[in-house]
Amino acid sequence: MPRYEYRCRTCGDTFELSRPMAQSAEPADCPAGHDDTVKLLSAVAVGGTKSAAPAPGAGGGGGGGCCGGGCCG
Ligand SMILES: [Zn+2]
Repeated sequence: MPRYEYRCRTCGDTFELSRPMAQSAEPADCPAGHDDTVKLLSAVAVGGTKSAAPAPGAGGGGGGGCCGGGCCG
């Protein structure tokens, strides 16, 4: 069950609750009994990040080169 973080605007406390995702948007009561709480963005990450990093154009050669491209003198 995912955990959600909430912040109480009455006392400024933050607390976590484990509840189903279907109830994540429902108001949560502060441990102190307040009901003026807001849901924080927690570390729950949904979905994936697509890493489309193009491979750097490797020059010719491959092994044995003392310096890439330049003249080594
Ligand atoms: Zn509170």
